[in-house]
Amino acid sequence: MKLNKNYEFKKNYVFTEVSEKVAKFKQQNKDIKVYNLGIGDVTREMDKKLVEVMVNSLKRQENPKTFLGYPPETGYDFLKQAIKKNYNDMNINIDTDEIFVSNGAGCDVTNILSLFDEQTAVIADPTYPAYFDSNFLVGNKIILLPLNKENNYKMSPNALKKDKSYLIYICSPNNPTGATLSKEELKQWVDFANQTQSIILFDNAYQSFIVDDCPKSIYCTDDAKKCAIEISSFSKSAGLTNLRCGYTVVPKLLTRQNQMLNKMWFIHQCTFFNGVPYHIQKGAEFALSKEGQKICQKNINYYRQNVKILKNKLAKLGFSFIGNTNSPYVWAKIPNQMTSWKYFDYLLNTYHVVCVPGCAFGENGEGYVRFSAFAKRSDILAF
Ligand code: PLP
Repeated sequence: MKLNKNYEFKKNYVFTEVSEKVAKFKQQNKDIKVYNLGIGDVTREMDKKLVEVMVNSLKRQENPKTFLGYPPETGYDFLKQAIKKNYNDMNINIDTDEIFVSNGAGCDVTNILSLFDEQTAVIADPTYPAYFDSNFLVGNKIILLPLNKENNYKMSPNALKKDKSYLIYICSPNNPTGATLSKEELKQWVDFANQTQSIILFDNAYQSFIVDDCPKSIYCTDDAKKCAIEISSFSKSAGLTNLRCGYTVVPKLLTRQNQMLNKMWFIHQCTFFNGVPYHIQKGAEFALSKEGQKICQKNINYYRQNVKILKNKLAKLGFSFIGNTNSPYVWAKIPNQMTSWKYFDYLLNTYHVVCVPGCAFGENGEGYVRFSAFAKRSDILAF
């Protein structure tokens, strides 16, 4: 038997190191309260109504008349209709058989690699580490496009060859920088992908944090349906990180080598996935309703207010930020020449605050740190 040697790879262990350092600090300083602004996970409790919808939906399982077995592999029609309506509200028409409900964007953005033979992946540096890790594990070639002040923290296709096709990861708003592509910038990528027969994987896990006129979906761009797969999540918008729900749109117009990727993903999900529980999908459906959106917006506003407070505080410490108004994270340039890790240690020891060193998101994250506003207000105020 031959094992995949790529699993011996040296994963970027920054997140593990952060946890170990924090545990050690707590052990040595038992009386000191540590403020965790590192973790990119929601912390606010769910609204009672959202929980009630899910609990009531679960209750049907105790009644022989309403009991349900396996869910449909690609999602219940009621949730697909709600997702379709959400797109309609953005003037985008998506058919329900183009929507694949899943247990989160993290799974889809990595499992999607199963549709492709050997590829060259184009990934921003810094960004969400799962793109790099999954491509490394399957043995793909990887081109990292640096994000920095000079390019306004945005990738551009100009650096790529025009006679080659790529698998292009676009995370907008980007984790960790918050940089969000405008309609014109997205169009540039869509045109490039269509010209080169490339495919864009558009991860909009943070779309609910967009407050300017940057698009929440790549399908606002003409012709994106011919080259882009969109991967979305209820994790940060509705606080479902624990309960797990997301969805991926694979348009029927997206074909390569006479194959519809929509059909391929259907086969993938029916083979490797057995669907999301009914009551979770009911919760997601509610989150997309008018009432649900209002309710979810309360928590989003809370985190957004955290961002404002954090930025004010950090500005006083000499940090500068990029224009990350659309993000629950603050991506901050370290004011002196300290490395990300040195600054992490300094913040922990001086202010008892935990951040994530920028190098966790790629080499170009060195010299930066990421603060998460998915934190308790009291933690943000105390620091
Ligand atoms: N995509 C990005 C950019 C993320 O930052 C995260 C989680 O932090 C995910 C996807 C994972 O989302 P989910 O909880 O839906 O798996």
